[in-house]
Amino acid sequence: MTPVIDWPVLPAGQQPRWPDAAALDRAQARLATLPPLVFAGESDILREQLAKVARGQAFVLMGGDCAETFAANTADSIRARLKTLLQMAVVLTYGAGMPVVKVGRVAGQYFKPRSSPEETRNGVTLPSYFGDGVNQLAFEAEARRPDPQRLVEAYNASSAALNLVRAFTQGGYADLRQVHAWNQDFVRDSPAGKRYDRLAGAIDRALSFMHACGAQPEEFRRVDFYAGHEALALDYERPLVRIDSRTGEPYSVSGHFLWVGERTREMSGAHIDFASRIRNPIGVKLGPTTSPEQALELVTRLDPDRDPGRLTLITRMGASHIREVLLPIVEKVEASGHSVVWLCDPMHGNTREVAGHKTRLFDDILDEVAGFFDVHRAVGSHPGGIHIELTGDDVTECLGGTGGIEEAHLSDRYETACDPRLNREQSLELAFSVAEMLGDR
Ligand code: PEP
Ligand code: MN
Repeated sequence: MTPVIDWPVLPAGQQPRWPDAAALDRAQARLATLPPLVFAGESDILREQLAKVARGQAFVLMGGDCAETFAANTADSIRARLKTLLQMAVVLTYGAGMPVVKVGRVAGQYFKPRSSPEETRNGVTLPSYFGDGVNQLAFEAEARRPDPQRLVEAYNASSAALNLVRAFTQGGYADLRQVHAWNQDFVRDSPAGKRYDRLAGAIDRALSFMHACGAQPEEFRRVDFYAGHEALALDYERPLVRIDSRTGEPYSVSGHFLWVGERTREMSGAHIDFASRIRNPIGVKLGPTTSPEQALELVTRLDPDRDPGRLTLITRMGASHIREVLLPIVEKVEASGHSVVWLCDPMHGNTREVAGHKTRLFDDILDEVAGFFDVHRAVGSHPGGIHIELTGDDVTECLGGTGGIEEAHLSDRYETACDPRLNREQSLELAFSVAEMLGDR
């Protein structure tokens, strides 16, 4: 099968070592024939919406699992994550009086970079878990063996998830008249849930008023929701690049928005090359070791046409570094005249080990977002949005928040396959704080 792009041979970090080359060929040939998960025209619309963000007229909410799993690809789990994002989006839209562009870390987040390719427990060494698209989490030889058939399974799982997300967001579930219904469960009685309920009441009254005046805008019945993930496993991504019949340009059809992670963003590497060739809106994560010169080099490479909305820089510096490290980066990029979207990922620079669990403190997360706003205020640029890891469930993975999750609770519901996620209550609480920061700008 001839790929649509003759991919150059470049160093690519974090790639699975598949033991069976013939099985990989079969899986990739299959992926290359399967229908697109998203339509290139949808990615163009997202790029236009992100262009508004780049101009300071909208805000992005991007969030979802660190690692999606096939086991959690259920109606309940997808609905709960979507509900969390919809609730957060309502809080942000209302608080900021600004459109909120919604992008899930969903329907493709099946591949994970790891600090070591192998893991050793009690003297036994096996390949690390690289996400359900590659192998299984269980620490057993057979489970950890990378299996290329899982690439096709990741596609199928993404297809099913996206189908449900589209049904929920277009078929009435996301209708603004449902604002109260999204709050019906364990979050309802929490402080954030109560605060949300009051806001939902105000929205209901506004809707009734508009209805009484004869206005029933179509926009209130549906929401535009996009799917994004890290473009990590090139064996999955490359067969899902297609030439768009309208424009003759290559697009990734594995998701609307793809980003390159902090660990694979070398200028001369295969991931940056991949991102530079697709027309989708793309992102790059920038960690605390990024120099302003490196950031500008990436921007020049990935946004050669100076196309607002094309490039999103997702900064993840850590609460204690952000104010000092981000400022010169933002200054340099803004001075270049490129119009990028700035997102704050307050999760990945704030991971720590507590009581044998990888966790994050809610206060660190809040502090990084506050630092992000401080920096953009100082430079006069637009704090374009947040990128977070969350779940719709009542998990106990991150510490703090008004729900008071403490060290002793960590093992109660620690369910993530990779990084610790905010639970629904913490997510909602974060949304209220961010809405305040947006309102105070
Ligand atoms: C992630 O988003 O889960 C991730 C691995 O992030 P980063 O690339 O910022 O380390
Ligand atoms: Mn993560």
